[in-house]
Amino acid sequence: MKVFGRTTISEILQDRIVFRNLSPLDTALPELDVLGKDIGLASGYIPRKSNVDYARVIVKLLKHIQNLDAPSIEIENLVLVGDTLLNDVKAFENICQVSGWSGKAFIGSENMDELVRIDKEMTDTGQELYLANRWSSLSDFDRYCFGCNMPIGSGTAVVIDLDKTVLGARGRNSHVIDEVRIQAVHNTVKRMLGQSFDKKVFSDIYEYFNSDKFHSFTSDNQDYLAYICLIVCSGLVSKHQLENDIKSGTLQSFQQFIETIEDHKNDLMPNLENIHSDIYTRVQTGDPTPFKSFRRNEYLSTIEYMGKSTHAASAEEILSSEIVVTEEVRDIALVWKERGAILFGLSDKPDEASIPSPDLARQGYVPIHQVEAWSVGCV
Ligand SMILES: [Mg+2]
Repeated sequence: MKVFGRTTISEILQDRIVFRNLSPLDTALPELDVLGKDIGLASGYIPRKSNVDYARVIVKLLKHIQNLDAPSIEIENLVLVGDTLLNDVKAFENICQVSGWSGKAFIGSENMDELVRIDKEMTDTGQELYLANRWSSLSDFDRYCFGCNMPIGSGTAVVIDLDKTVLGARGRNSHVIDEVRIQAVHNTVKRMLGQSFDKKVFSDIYEYFNSDKFHSFTSDNQDYLAYICLIVCSGLVSKHQLENDIKSGTLQSFQQFIETIEDHKNDLMPNLENIHSDIYTRVQTGDPTPFKSFRRNEYLSTIEYMGKSTHAASAEEILSSEIVVTEEVRDIALVWKERGAILFGLSDKPDEASIPSPDLARQGYVPIHQVEAWSVGCV
């Protein structure tokens, strides 16, 4: 593994990125409400990554970019680079189906304990998946596509996942992204509870309710988990009681839980009343990321963990302690761009965790894709 200097995601993708709200950062691209109207989406509705409406929005954006960059050329093929078999593959299949383009997806998840391995699979819709346990297999994937008569270049739309693909590569550097998120929950709860915060109690509760067996209760939603940690750490509900209520079926969903807190809001610590009522209102309106102050802390924690080492640090030191750009993805994406492919970045991260608040922006803070990080890899 080698350090390849400092870079930003915008060096690869410019502002051609959407975060969870599907609001393009590039002002030359149409906003979701404009695109949504074109394809008949209800106003204010933001489809999630695995939904076919999400793919319809992305196809519109890709065609718009192609039209800006090279209007005489039509997109014929799609390449997706990502790290998850669920969300990324679903989005890939949907984009191919909606557009009629044929495609290949590279899904990387590094495991240096295994021998180099590549599995090729066909999706139900007849598109090909290239599953690799090394990020460095991206160059083989490029040659493979060439050999399949689908050279990646002019006429190819390349969609690149940001989370644990360009940034914090899965199996190599993704643990730091997870640690940063826990740090953000920790900082949020600590700030709100002040003197009564106990780090050990917090870690115990976070770890416990973050496990798979509580996913049907938490919906694997980190905002919900952060709220649960806040309420349990404040002492209003004990870990034991919450666990029993979930196991007995008395509490089946997070929505039910926050309702019971609403019913007992007079017992909340006085400094938690406002934050509870804000989150409660947002949950009622269906906001999937209702804990805004936690997400803003996630933004601050993330940038704190980018590009912080000095030039003397080794690749191993940097990979273990900060979030880095995946050099293999950066390198091949720039080659594809040079050959005339259009590039677009997708992130499922909430916008509040990726873009500074207006207040911070005035102080000079920039969106995550413009923050400098080390690029590390083995090209
Ligand atoms: Mg990802």
